[in-house]
Amino acid sequence: MALANGRNTGVSRFEDRDLGTQRIRCEVGVPLAQQQELGHNRWHPEIPPLVTVRPGEDLILETPGYDDYQLLDDDSVADVVGIDLSRTHPLAGPIHVEGAEPGDLLVVDLLEIAPLSGVGYSCIIPEIGGLLRDQFPAGFKSVWYMKGNAYAESRHVPGVRIPALPHPGVLGVAPSHELLETWNTREAALTADGRAYGPDPRNAILRGNTSTEALATAARTVPPRENGGNVDIKDLSLGSKAYFPVFVDGGLLSVGDLHFSEGDGEATWNAIEMDGTTWLRVDVIKGGATDHGIETPIFKPGPFRPQFGDRYLVFTGFCFRGHEQHSNDCTIATREAMLRAIDYLTRFGYTGEQAYTILSVAPIEMKVSGVVDVPNACVTLHLPIDIFDKDLLPRSLR
Ligand code: ZN
Repeated sequence: MALANGRNTGVSRFEDRDLGTQRIRCEVGVPLAQQQELGHNRWHPEIPPLVTVRPGEDLILETPGYDDYQLLDDDSVADVVGIDLSRTHPLAGPIHVEGAEPGDLLVVDLLEIAPLSGVGYSCIIPEIGGLLRDQFPAGFKSVWYMKGNAYAESRHVPGVRIPALPHPGVLGVAPSHELLETWNTREAALTADGRAYGPDPRNAILRGNTSTEALATAARTVPPRENGGNVDIKDLSLGSKAYFPVFVDGGLLSVGDLHFSEGDGEATWNAIEMDGTTWLRVDVIKGGATDHGIETPIFKPGPFRPQFGDRYLVFTGFCFRGHEQHSNDCTIATREAMLRAIDYLTRFGYTGEQAYTILSVAPIEMKVSGVVDVPNACVTLHLPIDIFDKDLLPRSLR
């Protein structure tokens, strides 16, 4: 590479970004309904493939954030309160992988996950807002700028800098007709009383499949299932290798709902949500799902993640509160650990909404530390203290 006047005159990879790899573009700011050729927002076996690739081939896919470009870079929560969740999650795909058949394993290498516009969002949506929605009934929005792809900062949550741990919230394959029927039957009772997201044809997009029956029965992308989907696993990050059981010919892989960073559990229901690019490589292990008995996805994490060493403050949560006692309940214990951490952070000047957001977007670790010491399950919340611009260890506040 020649250097002239101290500047590199070679062609930057960013000027010819594709590097020979097919890149599927998403138009920034444009909802999926206006670029339906890009993908879909429901799971169904009969979504026309976006692209066909051979095993071993790379592909770069661009996707809107989970909000489908409804959220705005401003200081109002009108967009949060009015968000239409029937438009989630806009996914790119499906990718038809040549030769993949039911019983095979689809192998997905995550080679790059990066911001597209560089602006991300994290919201507490009224009545939706995660494990502590009863505690935080009002809407809250933080807008995050990803500076140089290494860190994200928000004017709405000052004093913290979140390191990148980018991952797809949603990565999954198409269900078979039989599996789709199983989901719809299995989740029906919970859907009926508002505890699950049943099929909803409003704003459903199946990449050109307009069959009324398909739109009415296609599964929502909110829950993760046998096909992967909205797994929201923060460690499924750069360099990870994920393995999905194949349920239909071609596998039909889709991706979207990219996160810049997330805490275990995604407390508020939002990570730092971003539009972005996913560079992936697909391969097939013939008969791999059958031979290894794999019924839900497995994965091997990549080598890149923020390093905090022992620089964590660990909060404990148990399944009791005052006189109220639960039996070995890890969800209650998780909730309690979060409440303890939020209360602690408010002593350092954060509002409850800001503290709750920090738990959801920072790479906190949640661990089931004990499930055998009945009746009190113990969950620990490991908060990395180096993300704060102040010392958070206990000290005299008087
Ligand atoms: Zn998400």
